[in-house]
Amino acid sequence: MVDVVVNESNIHGKGVFAKRGFKKGEIVIRYNLKFLTKEEFAKLSESEKHYTSKEENGAIWLFPSPERYVNHSCEPNTNPNLKEKFDFAIRDIKKGEEILTDYRLDDVPDLNMKCNCGSKHCKKIIRKGN
Ligand SMILES: [Zn+2]
Repeated sequence: MVDVVVNESNIHGKGVFAKRGFKKGEIVIRYNLKFLTKEEFAKLSESEKHYTSKEENGAIWLFPSPERYVNHSCEPNTNPNLKEKFDFAIRDIKKGEEILTDYRLDDVPDLNMKCNCGSKHCKKIIRKGN
């Protein structure tokens, strides 16, 4: 992936940053997903499970780098297209900006986390449907 880079984030741990500007609507990250069997999923460590997503049909996939490092924001600059498996810009993104998504739109299993995104509209606790 040449358009984004993983670096230290002010929000949480590592983050993904734009290496160039993106126009609204442009694909920022294509997921390079690895599908897992139930057995493979069960063998993952808790921290690795954090990077998985489960579909309604039961398919489980693991997010590799860099997409696994995309942080949540209550005011994201990308949205996921879960069907086509990519994140696209919902506004123009400047070079150097952190790429942010809304985990509530991703199918993150057991989503329940404190948010530190700094947005005025921050929900503080991120759960599905809040
Ligand atoms: Zn927030």
